Amino acid sequence: MRKVLLFTIVFFCFTLCIAENKVFYAEGTEKSKKVALTFDDGPGKTTDKILAILKEKNVKATFFMLGSRAAKKPATAKKVAEEGHEIASHTYDHVNFFKYEGEDKAEKIKDELLKAEEIIEKAAGVKPYLVRYPHGYAKRDAIQIAKENGYYVINWYFGCDWNTELTDEEMYEKYVGAIKSGAIFLMHDSNTKSVNILADFIDKLKEKGYEIVTVGELLDIKRELEKEEA
Ligand SMILES: [Zn+2]
Repeated sequence: MRKVLLFTIVFFCFTLCIAENKVFYAEGTEKSKKVALTFDDGPGKTTDKILAILKEKNVKATFFMLGSRAAKKPATAKKVAEEGHEIASHTYDHVNFFKYEGEDKAEKIKDELLKAEEIIEKAAGVKPYLVRYPHGYAKRDAIQIAKENGYYVINWYFGCDWNTELTDEEMYEKYVGAIKSGAIFLMHDSNTKSVNILADFIDKLKEKGYEIVTVGELLDIKRELEKEEA
């Protein structure tokens, strides 16, 4: 009996881990020399500048947009999609679910996800299937809700462009120091920091022989997840 119980527990944990691994990623495989650049919190004041750099360098990136921002800048959201970049969700209003204490938390997470989906799809013409919750919130509740709604949850391997104490040069060196196969780099198109180092960082990645791809391509998850019955 004890053995059966133990087996059941082990099997349950195993299934749960597999299920979670399938939808949550912070980096890709180290087997191929590919990395992904991701931009959060836009469409913002530097989206156009970032798009110009990406176009000049012939690089495709992934933009984790806020629904609330896409509602204010629908033309910019559309431009991101039209220039061939991957459209992803950063939820609607940047709620910090690490701190959210309302009893309706699960409902709120779902609401933030679906509200963003509707607005982003309307603005950019693309329905996102990747979500990065604000502040990288990736606890079980959020992963489960993402999964039930056909999303993969994507965090990042390295990012520091929000650190205002770093000079551009220091920031550049930190990004360069983190280069490795499968890395998902986090930057923002809501502040000016990343703009200053982006072109040089792309040049360095290319010089080192890395291919820069979208998150979907890096993780080989271009398909949509089947929606689960809630
Ligand atoms: Zn954010």
